[in-house]
Amino acid sequence: MIKVIYIAGFGRSGSTLLGNILGSLHGFIHVGELRYLWDRGFLEDWDCGCGKSFSQCSFWQKVIKDINFPHVIAPHLVNVRERGIHSRHLLYPFTVRKLMMNKMNEYLYWLKLLYQSISEHTGCEWIVDSSKFPSHGYLLDNITNINLYILHLVRDPRTVSYAWWKRTKNLGLKSNRNIMPRFNPIKSATLWLEWNYIIHHTWSYNKNYIFLRYEDFVMQPRSSIFKILAHLGLPKEYCDTIFINENTVKIATQHTISGNPVRFQKGVISVLSSYQDMENLGLGWRSIVSLITLPLLKKFHYALQS
Ligand SMILES: [Zn+2]
Repeated sequence: MIKVIYIAGFGRSGSTLLGNILGSLHGFIHVGELRYLWDRGFLEDWDCGCGKSFSQCSFWQKVIKDINFPHVIAPHLVNVRERGIHSRHLLYPFTVRKLMMNKMNEYLYWLKLLYQSISEHTGCEWIVDSSKFPSHGYLLDNITNINLYILHLVRDPRTVSYAWWKRTKNLGLKSNRNIMPRFNPIKSATLWLEWNYIIHHTWSYNKNYIFLRYEDFVMQPRSSIFKILAHLGLPKEYCDTIFINENTVKIATQHTISGNPVRFQKGVISVLSSYQDMENLGLGWRSIVSLITLPLLKKFHYALQS
């Protein structure tokens, strides 16, 4: 069985940093947002987290060569993904979902080979995928030889909405040549509510479900990773090789497909300092976002007004 830790949650919740820390542990690899491999890898040749373009990254080229993936079908798979099962469909009755999944067999076939090849090439027991989309998690959950762990990462919606609203600077790399997409706070708050509800509804009763608030993670990163390791049945000594102290961690080079620009960071970093720099929305927008996300604020232990 291939063990996949799937970071599920809404965008701009800190999944890239969490994925990079997990991927730096012995026996782990973080592959970024694998959902986008067909377009941001094959078609658009974005930069990998290692700094080389996808077509020049020897890791990905070996993985792809091994499964004899025909490059010409990449646009077809993008089409299947976009027309296939979406996150909101996870709320449909099981019989309807089963019918929809019957149309995804070819897509699942290539995903299965891909994860197998990553596992064989790296020798890593744990693959961390930070695609976040509930729909991609559901696809992985339907692949027979994948033992899926859902790591549900939630961040305060007021901070998330600000992150979607502000302009994120260009780092001059191919994957960031444009300003990252922006949503107004009403749209980001609505999607935050929808996605987090779907993830909680679909997996919270599963024994492989792990819940983590981003705010708890940045305040106590090493302790948070301990808790995740305990859930995976691993000793906390796994952290010893990468954590210098509770807040300081050494990030190894990762071969990530897509993700926040922080995925290019490596070496020693302070987790807390990246959090403290964050500004916030004005009072009016914060109130609107609080109102929209109210149904889940209490469940996830957030103040009703911040
Ligand atoms: Zn690479």
